[in-house]
Amino acid sequence: MFSLNAAILGGGITGLFVAKYLISEGVDVTLFEKRGVGEASSHAAGLIVPHSIRRTNTWGYLAEALNFARKGVLRIREVDRRWWLSLITEFGQDAPPEAWDFVRKAGDFALQEYRKMAEARNDFEFSEDGVLEIYESKKRFSRAVELTEREKQLKVESLDVAGYAGGIFYPNCARVCTESFTRRIADEIGRVRVVHDKVTFAGLDGTVGIGNDAQKFDAVIAALGVDCRKLGIPVTAIKGYGQRLENTQSLNSLPHRAIELPEYGNAIVAFENWVKVTGGLEFDFSPSGENALAELEPGLRVLGATNIIPTATVAGFRPCSPDGFPIVGRKENLVVATGAGRLGWSFAPALGRLAADLALGRNRDFPHLSRYARKIRSGTLV
Ligand SMILES: Cc1cc2nc3c(=O)[nH]c(=O)nc-3n(C[C@H](O)[C@H](O)[C@H](O)COP(=O)(O)OP(=O)(O)OC[C@H]3O[C@@H](n4cnc5c(N)ncnc54)[C@H](O)[C@@H]3O)c2cc1C
Repeated sequence: MFSLNAAILGGGITGLFVAKYLISEGVDVTLFEKRGVGEASSHAAGLIVPHSIRRTNTWGYLAEALNFARKGVLRIREVDRRWWLSLITEFGQDAPPEAWDFVRKAGDFALQEYRKMAEARNDFEFSEDGVLEIYESKKRFSRAVELTEREKQLKVESLDVAGYAGGIFYPNCARVCTESFTRRIADEIGRVRVVHDKVTFAGLDGTVGIGNDAQKFDAVIAALGVDCRKLGIPVTAIKGYGQRLENTQSLNSLPHRAIELPEYGNAIVAFENWVKVTGGLEFDFSPSGENALAELEPGLRVLGATNIIPTATVAGFRPCSPDGFPIVGRKENLVVATGAGRLGWSFAPALGRLAADLALGRNRDFPHLSRYARKIRSGTLV
């Protein structure tokens, strides 16, 4: 048991896993969250995609982004300046083998953690029945098959899908209902003191400020998603949306219950009583949802549900690092955990575990993942 007084800034999926691991070690934890606990992460599709990462500092990614932009799928309003500079400086550099090793271990750990919680009580619709990617274009489908064969990170099967150029099935992927899961984990960390307020300052010496008040902690873990950029970390936001749909008629005709449409960045996940459609690739820090329906249209079309009520749409961010790998590091008393981008739910258990280990002093840093630790600085979070 550790006699440590820790603050977690941000009660998204990363911060919630940090809290789970710290309280299991007897740490006195205060969680600061400006919105509802888990609310800012619940837009996600909830696909748990193990052993996967998308390097973003490559010509291949750039070409794909340009293609998306040309089709109107990707929009650019604002990017973080430090993220942009790091992207240019590190462009083309591959990550060391330890980073890839982390990806493999993090995937196994995520599946193990979600599975363990579901075995105790599956009140968050955990299911390990895989994910199906479907393609409209023959060319895109062949390229995707070629890429998966070359990268060999995930076990895959190519399939015929009626009405489409083809499908790639990932049998090792799982899924959770994000809304139910955040309720469940919030329940498990019931002993954590939750302060529902906006943190306005975080200091390297362990100071947490709210307005004119300040408190000092032995360790502060900033799990603020894209707002970690205010503490010197180069992350930018790719905004997207989650749309809840009730009573969809076409559920039985879906080729699978968890589907991705990589040509549009959309996903469709069917739960027991409802369906979620997610999508949207907008470099933007604002919470506005003006493009939501246009961004989600391909997924809604698959469901035959283009006539929906726009108010049920929730916006959220993918906190993206310059190279696609997550970021976790410590400087003095401040730990930062962010940058898992499109795979925040898939990496959250591992990121939470590593951030907790840094706070507990078990490790000083991690290969590659702590690459920006020396950049961490005290910052105003306004
Ligand atoms: C459309 C879409 C679909 C996605 N689907 C998937 C998926 O299927 N699988 C997957 O693995 N990932 C998915 N993701 C990615 C995933 O949602 C994110 O990576 C994840 O939410 C990041 O979690 P986080 O806790 O690090 O950050 P966030 O979710 O952004 O949480 C940060 C928290 O910090 C709080 N905060 C910020 N500033 C302050 C402050 N000053 N004071 C107090 N609190 C503060 C925020 O309110 C928030 O609760 C998807 C993302 C999008 C946009």
